[in-house]
Amino acid sequence: MGKIKFFDGTGTIGGTKILLEISDRRFFLDFGLNYKKRGMFFEEYLNPRSSNGMGDLYFLGLLPSIKGIYRKDLLQLIRREGVDELGDGSESPFVDGVFLSHVHFDHSGYIAFLREDIPIYTSDITISLMKAIEDTSNSNLETSILKFIRRPATGSSKDPLYYGSHKANVIAGEKKINGITVTACPVDHSVPGAMGFIIKGEEKTIVYTGDLRLHGKKRADTEQFIRQAKESHPDILIIEGTNLRGNDSNEEREFWTEQRVSEEAQKEIHNRERLVLVDFPFKDIYRFLTFFELAKLNGRKFVISLKDAYFMHAMKNIGMPVPSLSDPDIYFYLEKRKSGTYSDKDYSARWIKDIMGKLDSGKLVTAKEIKADENNFMLILRYFNFQQLADIRPTNGSVYIHSASEAHTEEQEIDEWRMNNWLKHFNLYPRVHIHASGHAKKDDLFDIVSEINPKMIVPVHTEHPEEYVEQFGNKVKIVQNGDTIKF
Ligand SMILES: [Zn+2]
Ligand SMILES: [Zn+2]
Repeated sequence: MGKIKFFDGTGTIGGTKILLEISDRRFFLDFGLNYKKRGMFFEEYLNPRSSNGMGDLYFLGLLPSIKGIYRKDLLQLIRREGVDELGDGSESPFVDGVFLSHVHFDHSGYIAFLREDIPIYTSDITISLMKAIEDTSNSNLETSILKFIRRPATGSSKDPLYYGSHKANVIAGEKKINGITVTACPVDHSVPGAMGFIIKGEEKTIVYTGDLRLHGKKRADTEQFIRQAKESHPDILIIEGTNLRGNDSNEEREFWTEQRVSEEAQKEIHNRERLVLVDFPFKDIYRFLTFFELAKLNGRKFVISLKDAYFMHAMKNIGMPVPSLSDPDIYFYLEKRKSGTYSDKDYSARWIKDIMGKLDSGKLVTAKEIKADENNFMLILRYFNFQQLADIRPTNGSVYIHSASEAHTEEQEIDEWRMNNWLKHFNLYPRVHIHASGHAKKDDLFDIVSEINPKMIVPVHTEHPEEYVEQFGNKVKIVQNGDTIKF
């Protein structure tokens, strides 16, 4: 007997936490942060207290009640609140591992809370991205996975017990793990390194798509995954459905491919005599490449942040086809830090020193240099770094291309309002919105299911699972958080 229990991530987009029990083994398929549920309780200035370990999140229902999965240090803290049901960490781990589909926090984030002896299986690219993210940001209770601070954070950070870590194992192709045959297949998504999994036990074969699409630069990967999934004759297909919109929006939105993003952006860039600013999610290396190509095409220097440079270097190191730091068309934006005078001492953070040591300092450009030569630059400038506009003060005729998804929560709408205020103030309004989704469109999702032809279809990562029912009838099993499918 096997089963699949859906702890979180059904009927909503993200926060996926699925437990698969097969051939007497147990695995999580992702263990993500549920942004929507989190947003019901927390905001920018109201956050889970790291001093309380997992307490705030557990009592709010953001972490499931499962004995034998949480970190010992966190259990010690929460046991002081009288919580016994989670164990004390001395029992053997409840699961054999986590299959992590990709690096987005709505799939990976809450692995941070799992026991250190629960192995993570994911792609080499995902591991490398996780490391780059953690290297370039402050340790975070909710998302620091490879290296985290043990709670309560007492003593010196030089103490070997101050930090803990999770073991991430590379999985690629077919692998036997504790008697289960798992095939990890690369898929196309808005971050590199995304994978779908085909899991074969004695009883059944289960396929999990993670997040995927068929209209990006790596479309062929998704096609290959579909072929392999089909050949496995799966009993159950757990599939995402982000772009199913139900009757909420009747207007058929035009669906753009990555290629279309490039074409539409080119219309805005060519013949422009002032500055081009672009904004896209920093983990989306494919979008980075789209704009890099456009910068070259238009004879503009592509100016990237030091953080982008750090990521690009990490991706290059594991063989991704990204430009090297010495590429003649890549320049690096030097923003004011600390003293505000561009003094060497201002750039002493370890990761900044590390990346600055690898690049040609002659290619560092400041706001003033960009301002003086607007028509020769394309600069990556993200919303959360908009203060740079006060240094650059772009001239009328410059453009800001927003290449990310539209606001769909109230909080994001407020951000958008604020973004527009900045843009109006600095001659950049209205923004140009050009984007291709990280997720397959409805027709593609239906084609994927038809082609794989599973006996049972289980939609997750969607607000509209009923659309699968309309298409595939009683082969679809709609599940809610807390539900279990037995097989
Ligand atoms: Zn997702
Ligand atoms: Zn994703």
